[in-house]
Amino acid sequence: MTSYKKYQELITLLKHHSHLYYDRDQPEMSDSEYDHIYREAQEFEKQNPILVDSQSPTQKVGGKPSQTFKEFKHTKPLPSLSNAFSEEDITAFYDRCLKGLEKTNELFTIEPKIDGLAVSLHYKQGKLEAGATRGDGKIGENVTANLLTIQSLPKTLNEKIDIEVRGEVYIKHSEFKSLEGQFANPRNAAAGSLRQLDSRIAAQRPLDIWIYYGNKSDIHTHFDMLQYLHKLGFPVLIDHIVKAENPKDIIDACQNIENKKSSYDFGIDGAVVKVDNLEDQDQLGLTAKAPRWAVAYKFASETAITTLKDITVQVGRTGILTPVAELLPVKVSGVIVSRATLHNMEDLERKGVQIGDTVVIERAGEVIPRVIKTHTPHPQRKIFHMPSLCPACQTPIVHLPDEVAFRCPNLACPDQIKGQIRHFASRDAMDIEGLGYSIVDTLVDNGILKNSADLYSLNQPQLSPLERMGDKSIHNLLIAIEDSKKKPLSKFIFGLGILYVGKVTSEVLAQHFFQVDTLLKVDFETLVDIHDIGERIAHSLVDTFNNPHFLSMIARFKESGVDPKHTHPALTQELSGKTFVITGTLHNYKRNDIETLIISMGGRILSTVSKQLNYLIVGESPGSKLDKAIALQKKGTSMKILYEASLSEIFPDT
Ligand code: NAD
Repeated sequence: MTSYKKYQELITLLKHHSHLYYDRDQPEMSDSEYDHIYREAQEFEKQNPILVDSQSPTQKVGGKPSQTFKEFKHTKPLPSLSNAFSEEDITAFYDRCLKGLEKTNELFTIEPKIDGLAVSLHYKQGKLEAGATRGDGKIGENVTANLLTIQSLPKTLNEKIDIEVRGEVYIKHSEFKSLEGQFANPRNAAAGSLRQLDSRIAAQRPLDIWIYYGNKSDIHTHFDMLQYLHKLGFPVLIDHIVKAENPKDIIDACQNIENKKSSYDFGIDGAVVKVDNLEDQDQLGLTAKAPRWAVAYKFASETAITTLKDITVQVGRTGILTPVAELLPVKVSGVIVSRATLHNMEDLERKGVQIGDTVVIERAGEVIPRVIKTHTPHPQRKIFHMPSLCPACQTPIVHLPDEVAFRCPNLACPDQIKGQIRHFASRDAMDIEGLGYSIVDTLVDNGILKNSADLYSLNQPQLSPLERMGDKSIHNLLIAIEDSKKKPLSKFIFGLGILYVGKVTSEVLAQHFFQVDTLLKVDFETLVDIHDIGERIAHSLVDTFNNPHFLSMIARFKESGVDPKHTHPALTQELSGKTFVITGTLHNYKRNDIETLIISMGGRILSTVSKQLNYLIVGESPGSKLDKAIALQKKGTSMKILYEASLSEIFPDT
């Protein structure tokens, strides 16, 4: 039985991971592990309704809509779906529906559950007028410009009707290959691309869509609605939808979809079972989070059972110690696995896994293998304790009371340096092919590499004594290192491995600062002014930019000709270095378009008014930002206030 303390821990964990998943499109946990924790929290909530945390992800749909986009108020909520994991869950759903409808039989439809991002699309007189993400279910992000770039989405329908349709934006497996280095899986790639500020970048991404909902009032069943939407010209999975009338046939249909999973060129993470009759759907209605007339049957991820022989410790590039499971090798999803991550001590304690146990491991999607739980405890199982000295450099380990992590504080720790160089050379960063694990290990152990900048002074004599390094491999590696100098600024920033600075933040920083020198001079206030950069990231950046070791590494990069620039999407530099804040409602311009235009002309968008600001763009009902700007102007700042009518001064072609 889960205690209240444990419930609170589960909620903290769920909140953290749903933020990574929904708001940042960068999950760090597999869906099935998330679902497992979610269920445990839900169980507690069922038993203890008065202790339910109203901010729990079990009580809310999706994430916070990003302020980067204009808000879009949904006319009718876009819900989530309740999950079913077993035949019993499906039977219970079937019984609940029949009971709610006071009927003895009912027709259901079963269709693939596409693993992408939900959107709502509004057509007026047959023309696509607006589209938005689901957001928190009530308010989404207006991503019309990006939706317009989806080729398979009709912009004009065969009939001049007003209709709302809903669907799932995704990227085909076959198309994902070109984006593999940038995103963990196709779902993140689709979400990241659709929520891209610059629609020209979105247009380059192979986004696709399947439609599964329409709101035409004279159609009476879900099945007929899908047929109609198909005839209207929408992409609908029409050949993959089946009808069933009893739990056994519903379960068979779900399993059929699961068996065909690998034959689809897009990700599916389950099957959706829906009451077919639309009036019956209305009668059953919605809970706070999901319709009562539908359920998502989630496929089990691939797991295996093996023995946990030992737990060792790995020192990461930021000095964080991670317990690693040393396993009796076992095959899972077609790959032999002998090591798996145990994340951190808190996670290990939560799972109660001990050395010697038979454990369940999972390899889901592109995520690295992980230990899920103990399957059978060993009679002589041994509790694991974090070592007090770093296993790589013997420095005493630091464990701050308010931090989960145990950390090696030694900046010269060889394992940290190895991790930093591997990260710098990884595909998402500078993508240096041929710089394998063992090469980095040997070069660091021999004192040839002390940081990533040293890569650019590597030469043939240093590499030729290495095992399995023939002339050709050395030549290719040196070329790959040289080629990496041409990588864009965002990849370089990401490669620097600054604490809390991931791919998205690196891109944001590159878009704002264009070159390393400007970035290094930035202060805390300017950083927190930028959308998507919080105080934690800003502190980490400022600390790093004041660190003499870091600065001397940057100087070495420069000496070696590594000084990347951000060239995209700024097309001109007319607004180079100029900062903008937009406030109030604009009538003749879309806020998104103005922001894109400013960035494309080399300017930057900030969120708060300060004396460093160059322009405040003012629409209707501007609020306190205008007051602050006027006050600052009175104090003599050179900030300009631009009302909507005078925007053409600065953007003559809009
Ligand atoms: P969901 O994805 O489980 O189900 C709801 C969504 O399914 C709908 O919004 C709709 O867009 C989509 N859908 C796809 N095909 C459909 C079809 N044919 N008919 C109707 N809807 C269809 O719910 P959710 O609230 O978006 O997300 C919850 C899930 O997200 C969890 O179960 C978990 O697996 C995952 N998640 C993972 C993490 C993580 O860290 N890995 C974090 C948060 C959430």
